Amino acid sequence: MIDFSLTERQLEIQGRVTEFIRDKIIPRENDPRQGGHGPQDDFRRELNALAKAAGLIAPHVGEEWGGMGLSHVEIAVAFEAAGYSPIGPIAMNCSAPDEGSMAMLEKIASQAQKERWLRPFASGEVRHCFAMTEPEGGAGSDPSMLKTVARADGEHFVIDGRKWLITGAQGAAFTIIMARVDGSGEKDGATMFLADMASPGIRIERVLDTIDSTFAGGHSVLVFEGLRVHRSQVLGELGEGGRYAQVRLAPARLTHCMRWLGLATRAHHIASDYARTRHAFGKPIGEHEGVGFMLADNEMDLHQCRLVIWHTAWLLDQGRRAGTESSMAKVLCSEAYFRIADRCVQILGGMGVTHDTLVERIFRELRAFRIYDGPSEVHRWALARSVLKGR
Ligand SMILES: Cc1cc2nc3c(=O)[nH]c(=O)nc-3n(C[C@H](O)[C@H](O)[C@H](O)COP(=O)(O)OP(=O)(O)OC[C@H]3O[C@@H](n4cnc5c(N)ncnc54)[C@H](O)[C@@H]3O)c2cc1C
Repeated sequence: MIDFSLTERQLEIQGRVTEFIRDKIIPRENDPRQGGHGPQDDFRRELNALAKAAGLIAPHVGEEWGGMGLSHVEIAVAFEAAGYSPIGPIAMNCSAPDEGSMAMLEKIASQAQKERWLRPFASGEVRHCFAMTEPEGGAGSDPSMLKTVARADGEHFVIDGRKWLITGAQGAAFTIIMARVDGSGEKDGATMFLADMASPGIRIERVLDTIDSTFAGGHSVLVFEGLRVHRSQVLGELGEGGRYAQVRLAPARLTHCMRWLGLATRAHHIASDYARTRHAFGKPIGEHEGVGFMLADNEMDLHQCRLVIWHTAWLLDQGRRAGTESSMAKVLCSEAYFRIADRCVQILGGMGVTHDTLVERIFRELRAFRIYDGPSEVHRWALARSVLKGR
């Protein structure tokens, strides 16, 4: 039986994160060290130091590696509270894409790789980027179209290829590269590699200007030209990159839903306050049915998303893969959050499109969620195929 009431421990985690975000993070939301490509690194480090002092760094990583070692349901509670501010997850070192890759490294990396890459990553000392998507007809919705190639050369591989939309590349200390291995003598196919960003053969071509502005480092075009990596830099096993991408993506889709739930709730709170206090035609606008119904729809969307997230997190805590459930949660939540943000803009009237409240930014931030980690159509298409197969 599933009990959706929070345990004392979950309530304690929720309370601590909520207080931290309210007292330490929200007052810093307008720090000028933020731009179209996210917060600058010195600001990020200051935020991380505050989270460390509060004992709230990397909730999803095991204590052995410097995190809080929370369960999936506890993570759901903590991430929602952190996500109430766009810079909350960055402060607690649990924002995308870093959070998903930390979780994957913890599951797949060798002990030596964890010491070298995971430990400084979990503490917030360094950031990373995850390089899979390619321009010009390469891997996108269909990852099997991977064009980046890793040619075996003795104890090394030589990687050539071009990636784009790579979040956080600017300022990252290392990258996880998805490349197609050729001639390994063992197992060819999609493989993940770890490489320091300072390695010769890695170049950031440009940082893209995009609709969102919260992700540290923005999103870049990344070029690999004759990048030499040692076999010890293969993450996990050769030819298993596709499977590891799913190991990373199933929980990572859900954690996006958790963080963005906090931000959608924030927009709803701002719009609700406005609806209570702004008068038109002789009464608060919230008492006009057109606005009241929008608030009610927001409440129902938020409630539905929270239940779906908690249920999927609970399945993960039971040791289930929950791939289909996290895929469904991603579509449901990304579409519901965008509806919520859109209604909030509408409720605020002209103020909704200004920078005078956070709602305009939330509206922009949430749009891309329907595209990354699989566009809604791809999830629906995969789900439809499994329905037709009779599952
Ligand atoms: C803000 C942002 C951050 C990102 N960060 C990263 C990152 O850090 N690392 C990384 O590797 N990638 C990243 N990406 C890339 C992201 O994962 C891809 O954009 C996504 O997988 C879609 O691939 P694509 O852009 O090539 O779209 P395409 O493959 O060109 O698809 C375009 C559209 O075609 C439709 N479509 C495709 N297949 C189907 C189908 N089977 N059925 C119905 N419709 C379909 C969908 O509507 C889709 O939106 C990021 C993207 C964004 C927007």
